[in-house]
Amino acid sequence: ELTDVAEMLDEVADRFSFQLEQRSIDIAIQVAPEVGEIVLDRDRIDQVLDNLVSNAIKYTADSGLISIGAHRAEPQLLEISVQDNGMGIPKKDLSRIFERFYRVDKARSRSMGGTGLGLSIAREIVRAHGGTIMLESELGQGTKVTFTLPYALNEEAVV
Ligand code: ATP
Ligand code: MG
Repeated sequence: ELTDVAEMLDEVADRFSFQLEQRSIDIAIQVAPEVGEIVLDRDRIDQVLDNLVSNAIKYTADSGLISIGAHRAEPQLLEISVQDNGMGIPKKDLSRIFERFYRVDKARSRSMGGTGLGLSIAREIVRAHGGTIMLESELGQGTKVTFTLPYALNEEAVV
């Protein structure tokens, strides 16, 4: 379905407004003017965004900052990123982070809850749209997840 990207991102932030307020975490959304509208499976992309924002909240300390950005990376490619200034991920775990059930060290995972499926599902959904997803992180500094979605869906895309 044809979706206004700025609206979609505002609505993600709204869904987490209670948690964000409780934790005093600020969320900043920046959508470049040329982003516009895109065809996507709204329920599935909401699932991706919800997982990325819930991860950012889980692994960021009170009074942290989450930044969501959207711009056109190439004329036909939408790029969305979710960045936090939280605890980050050790280098040795980065290569496995999109695996099913993979979670960084048991101690932090146990206290946070979750199954370790969110990122692997996010990758499946983004790939089904013909896009890519990547994660950059610096331990103690924060994490940034970036995914792309093609504006012109090709025939293989299953949305
Ligand atoms: P689920 O999403 O199934 O509820 P989960 O959040 O633990 O569980 P993923 O979303 O797949 O699983 O994330 C996998 C692991 O990657 C997390 O357990 C966490 O250790 C690490 N991680 C993910 N996002 C972040 C982030 N923004 N900051 C720090 N660590 C993260
Ligand atoms: Mg998760």
